[in-house]
Amino acid sequence: MNNIVVAKFGGTSLADASQIKKAAGIIKANPDRKFAVVSAPGKRNSNDAKITDMLYSMHRQFTEGRQEVYAETVNRIAVRYRDIISGLGITFDLDSELEAIREKLSSGVSQDYSASRGEYLNARIIAEYLGWPFVDASELIHFREDGSFDGAATYRSAGEKLQALGHAVIPGFYGSMPDGSIKTFSRGGSDITGSIIACAVDAGLYENWTDVSGMLCADPRIVKSPKVIESITYTELRELSYMGASVLHEDAVFPVRKAGIPINIRNTNSPDDKGTLIAASLPKGTKRRAVTGIAGRKGFCSIRVEKSQMNGETGFGAELLRIFSKNDIPFEHCPTGIDTISVIVNSALFDARREEILREVKNRLEPDFITIEKNLAAIAVVGEGMVHMKGTAAKVFTALAGAGINVRMIDQGSDELNIIVGVDESDYEAAVNALYSAMID
Ligand code: ASP
Repeated sequence: MNNIVVAKFGGTSLADASQIKKAAGIIKANPDRKFAVVSAPGKRNSNDAKITDMLYSMHRQFTEGRQEVYAETVNRIAVRYRDIISGLGITFDLDSELEAIREKLSSGVSQDYSASRGEYLNARIIAEYLGWPFVDASELIHFREDGSFDGAATYRSAGEKLQALGHAVIPGFYGSMPDGSIKTFSRGGSDITGSIIACAVDAGLYENWTDVSGMLCADPRIVKSPKVIESITYTELRELSYMGASVLHEDAVFPVRKAGIPINIRNTNSPDDKGTLIAASLPKGTKRRAVTGIAGRKGFCSIRVEKSQMNGETGFGAELLRIFSKNDIPFEHCPTGIDTISVIVNSALFDARREEILREVKNRLEPDFITIEKNLAAIAVVGEGMVHMKGTAAKVFTALAGAGINVRMIDQGSDELNIIVGVDESDYEAAVNALYSAMID
């Protein structure tokens, strides 16, 4: 590992010339920032359109032969890039690039190719503005025949090419298939490219520049101005992301986590803010609260199965869970009592297979009662600090009781990393606020 910093900029950070200038200022401010991975221009305001969305429309309109709307969409895309080019004061032959895209469309190119042009053009333009080399992601990021990411091929070619260049601008979001055609990651996938490039150049840090000053301790749609998480471990991040907190594309975490490279989420519009540092373990002496963050989701239900003497029956739980897995329903939690066992699952998935599941449970397990409780929300209170602190659970339940909230399920992960409580969906927002005030504020 060395001092190299890979800086990835998201769509809002590059939405127009003034945003690109900010990003360029950030890149140049630290000589260790040697590789910039860029998204396509995103929304300039809430009513605006993302270039990537326009490119998907353009592709569809062309394939459906709707020439007039197609031409309008191409024009809107061209205007966005032209504004950027003139705002940056560079020369760039946009017309030839648009012509090349049109030719490819005529030859029946894939939707992925069209979508990838947002990042491709933006990276070319930004490279020109910075005076840095541009390296096409199709030469660096490789997919296998079955569409899965080919780490071995990617790290070999990207590592060599990029180390030789020393610095470069790279488009995010896409790579190439063995036949050379373009394939994209899923939406938001430039985060993944940044993570892969950080591994390929053995970076010391992966910076992810976006439009917020880091990950928040709770959902800002529920809690008013929640605090920013200054530092968080990969394990905590996984727990919070699973429960709905989002700051990065989920698949972006795996490459850097494996390589032990920390991620720093930063704000392009407020570059002095420290943002959130995500690492395998946090530096000794980092001051932390017992609870790092709170996240949750609605839309669960509980299937409670009761049978006297269940405790003495071997294989009861295994058989119950097998019935769910056979119906392709993953279970989220499974609290047990002496003669009861509950399975907490996604309501929508359960509803689709409800009859089959209940029939099988009755036939195979012969329970005394089956009770279904709907409209459950699960809230995870997450923090590695909990292991060392007494009274965290007491504080959680006192806060909920104080807010008059009935706890319908409790689950503490065996690693003492989280406490998960199930509450009625109608109590969800109040519960999150009560927990935030008690544990974080
Ligand atoms: N531009 C792509 C999208 O809008 C990828 C990205 O920005 O990460 O999904």
